[in-house]
Amino acid sequence: EDSTPVGETTDGFHLVIDALKLNGIDTIFGLPGIPITDLTRMAQAEGLRVISFRHEQHAGNAAAAAGFLTQKPGICLTVSAPGFLNGLTALANATTNCFPMILISGSSEREIVDLQQGDYEEMDQLAIAKPLCKAAFRVLHAQDIGVGIARAIRAALSGRPGGVYLDLPAKLFAQTMDAAAGKASLIKVVDAAPRQIPAADAVQRALDILKGAKRPLILLGKGAAYAQADADIRALVEKTGIPYLPMSMAKGLLPDTHAQSAAAARSYVLQEADVVVLVGARLNWLLSHGKGKTWAQEKGAKRFIQIDIAPTEIDSNVAIEAPVIGDIGSCVAALLAGIDAKWAKPPAEWTGAIAERKDKNLSKMAATLAARPSPMNFHSALSVIRDQVKARPDAIVVNEGANTLDFARSIVDMYEPRKRLDVGTWGIMGIGMGFSVAAAVVTGKPVIAIEGDSAFGFSGMEVETICRYNLPVCVIVFNNNGVYRGTDVNSSGTPDVAPTVFVKNARYDKLMEAFGGVGVNATTADELQKALAEAVASGRPTLINAVIDETAGTESGRITSLNPATAKKK
Ligand code: ADP
Repeated sequence: EDSTPVGETTDGFHLVIDALKLNGIDTIFGLPGIPITDLTRMAQAEGLRVISFRHEQHAGNAAAAAGFLTQKPGICLTVSAPGFLNGLTALANATTNCFPMILISGSSEREIVDLQQGDYEEMDQLAIAKPLCKAAFRVLHAQDIGVGIARAIRAALSGRPGGVYLDLPAKLFAQTMDAAAGKASLIKVVDAAPRQIPAADAVQRALDILKGAKRPLILLGKGAAYAQADADIRALVEKTGIPYLPMSMAKGLLPDTHAQSAAAARSYVLQEADVVVLVGARLNWLLSHGKGKTWAQEKGAKRFIQIDIAPTEIDSNVAIEAPVIGDIGSCVAALLAGIDAKWAKPPAEWTGAIAERKDKNLSKMAATLAARPSPMNFHSALSVIRDQVKARPDAIVVNEGANTLDFARSIVDMYEPRKRLDVGTWGIMGIGMGFSVAAAVVTGKPVIAIEGDSAFGFSGMEVETICRYNLPVCVIVFNNNGVYRGTDVNSSGTPDVAPTVFVKNARYDKLMEAFGGVGVNATTADELQKALAEAVASGRPTLINAVIDETAGTESGRITSLNPATAKKK
């Protein structure tokens, strides 16, 4: 029985807030301004957590990371036109990464926009958003807000997760309606991400291929991390005895120190495997499209089993012999059901050869990590972080940069699922502070952001946000004075510095101090170790300017080959 008094009214503002709350959404990441300023105030008053950023792109990135971590769509709220466009980059990135997120933007009045009469911040936002996300909706009437939010949630979460745009014109917020009717118009979404059970014959086909494998390999992607089927994924790996490789954001699904991890023998296993099981990982550029030298294609084609929720992903790059379509939890459980005590573990020749390479590479790495050069290089600085993460495996690592990303990915071991957030499918810069804020807000755990100095620049102003909400984030800026390196010179004779070089010996730590956080300038591994341990223990916002040898680092890190080379003849 509805207790709403007769005659009481509600409005668009409150219907949006009530619809979000009804669906278990407790946080909004955004940036207030016309027409959504009051919406942020009222949302806070109604018990939602509102995290205000300094730029919408970072609010959007925070929403995307929150979606990945929680399986609830992260909400990003922006103003119209420019605010919307700033948020749209994050929405497109979320969609590319298969993270559930909803970008809600206020917009100008339809009558004026559609006649192109030049409204304040006029832009046909719905049309612009559409090709860059999974779905886009607009609500014109207060009584449709419930449906609009329900559709947005369902589109973001069901099937392959992704970004959704929801367009809310300014006039909508002030519309009033009867409170009881408004309440009745809201929808609580039932089973927003329905399980998708794989077909029995598809599972059998995969098991048959796997049984015949001499050199099998399991490849775990961030879809597997997102799925939260951690125990079953671990059981699949351990019961079959098959070596596995984690993609960067799947690190920690099983601890990186696990005996079956083949990460330290990556190139060997990609070349030598005969059957590869992809679990929530696409055969895109990050896996050399499943072809070429990386996969020793000249020795013959690999046989692929692919677990994915999106049937159209199959055969995107190479032939997939056994697609298993469904949600990862259901698919892995179905495979597990077909693996009994009599399952033959992979031949010792295969696992032994991997172990041999692994041991060799790991001891070589240990020697490199033990060195203490002055100034620090990537390895000596990262060895300190590696030890800290080992001591606090519940901490979340955020990582972006070129060399800083590549080295950290292989050096810093992860021990628990969904503790590593990084540049993702596009390999983009700019996710750092947005992801860090979301990780801290959503989990309450310490966050360690390992940032190249160039990468940090994209979102650096958000250290104010980190201080304002007093978040347990420790940012470590790997400062080598430039993009890739700090050593380029301008050979043209003009006074400008080279395009890849920054102000030398900059003190990023002062930026954190400006807003009341802790700033530390670390020139040695010992100083870095001490500052990081203090930051993690205290939970105080901290920025460590880690001074790195400006000659360390390579062009584009490990993806130098993607740079086009000039063919011009003199
Ligand atoms: P990585 O970059 O780590 O290799 P990708 O982002 O390329 O991972 O791949 C993730 C894949 O996981 C996508 O193809 C996506 O469709 C799939 N996926 C995401 N969530 C699920 C889920 N719950 N069940 C099944 N597949 C999923």
